[in-house]
Amino acid sequence: MNPWQGGGSAILKKAEEIAKDVLAAEASRVDREAAWPEKGLRTLLAEGFGGLVVPRQYGGKGQGLLMLARVCELLSRECASTGICFGMHCVGASVMSVNATEAQKESFLTPICEGKHITTLSLSELGTGIHFYLPQTSLIAVSPDFYSLTGEKVFVTNGSYADSYVVSAVAGEREAPAGQFSCVVVPNNSLGLSWGKPWNGVGMRGNSSRTMTLRSVRIPRANLLGREGDQIWYIFNVITPFFLVAMAATYLGVAYSALDEARTHVVRRRHAHTGALSQAPVVQHRFGTLWGMLDRTRRLVYGAAASFDNGEPDALISIMASKAEVADSAVTIVNEAMTLTGGRGYSEGSKLSRHLRDVRAVHLMSPTTDLLRTWIGKSFLGVPLLAD
Ligand SMILES: Cc1cc2nc3c(=O)[nH]c(=O)nc-3n(C[C@H](O)[C@H](O)[C@H](O)COP(=O)(O)OP(=O)(O)OC[C@H]3O[C@@H](n4cnc5c(N)ncnc54)[C@H](O)[C@@H]3O)c2cc1C
Repeated sequence: MNPWQGGGSAILKKAEEIAKDVLAAEASRVDREAAWPEKGLRTLLAEGFGGLVVPRQYGGKGQGLLMLARVCELLSRECASTGICFGMHCVGASVMSVNATEAQKESFLTPICEGKHITTLSLSELGTGIHFYLPQTSLIAVSPDFYSLTGEKVFVTNGSYADSYVVSAVAGEREAPAGQFSCVVVPNNSLGLSWGKPWNGVGMRGNSSRTMTLRSVRIPRANLLGREGDQIWYIFNVITPFFLVAMAATYLGVAYSALDEARTHVVRRRHAHTGALSQAPVVQHRFGTLWGMLDRTRRLVYGAAASFDNGEPDALISIMASKAEVADSAVTIVNEAMTLTGGRGYSEGSKLSRHLRDVRAVHLMSPTTDLLRTWIGKSFLGVPLLAD
């Protein structure tokens, strides 16, 4: 089988078409200008991708993690910023979908499925860093109908462009036990919400990963997702699996694209005395190793995603392991692809230089590789994941 073939279903064909026709043309500008990838995202929404993971009864496509992985990989082969922006929208939409009230379906899920609404996840805070499940933002009930939300969120992908934000906060006391927090949907036009300076990352430059300040923002109590304090359930049943698969697939896409760049270079390159570079045994051996690494980690991600969709008990551990493995292999593959592409790949503005900068985010986006491996070890040893 040709390892470079695209997917089969209508959804995958459309995703690949959008990636090749729209994202590929925009990717370099998005990176250069650190521009939020509006054109690609609006095209995805217009083609019905907004409700990819929203259940069919709410008007969505009712797809699971495997399809999310495949779509994010296809998009990220052309533009990783678009891949993660779309992925984070899907994570936010999946969190909204699991226990949506009638009012939430009408206000958020219907417009999401109609391609009129982008959402995203705002969990990380400066005070708690990689521990995204320990918010310090406070959610105080100020009347029978409203909460007041105060705090600061950092690295909010789609920041200032999304129509709504799934924000984590501690209801009542700030020092609630780990994982006992709540999530509320915060509309972008809320009074008291303001944005820090534009994102200027080393890579993932189209993400608009900005700081969000919430000063006594009044949020309707109807925007609470699930019940107050029950987010430990969401963390391990929705947020972590969707978040990890979207991220893993994004960086798989970057690794695929880097390897393809290297292949294109090597297949074309000839030296005066020794002929085609593709005939060099060391180069062939390196491609064999890198292709095996990519194929192995892709199968881990897709297999873990499918096992989650099938409700298998160990699916979450497999998902955690697959993101950690992707992190290691994607960074190696992109690095090696740079070597195999020689001086051309190492030039300023090359596609590989973007891939190299983009892929470095994989280890530090939480759950980080270290955190995942610690969680897997704890699970193996029977130690509670969120205990010190
Ligand atoms: C491009 C990008 C997009 C992002 N998008 C989102 C988003 O949409 N929503 C969101 O909520 N967050 C998002 N984040 C935040 C991200 O997931 C991380 O949580 C955040 O970058 C890590 O926090 P920090 O920078 O404060 O790291 P620090 O807390 O300063 O940690 C620095 C490093 O130290 C190590 N470290 C830290 N604490 C520990 C520990 N206890 N044990 C072992 N090692 C540790 C880790 O290697 C870590 O990378 C994004 C980040 C980036 C870079």
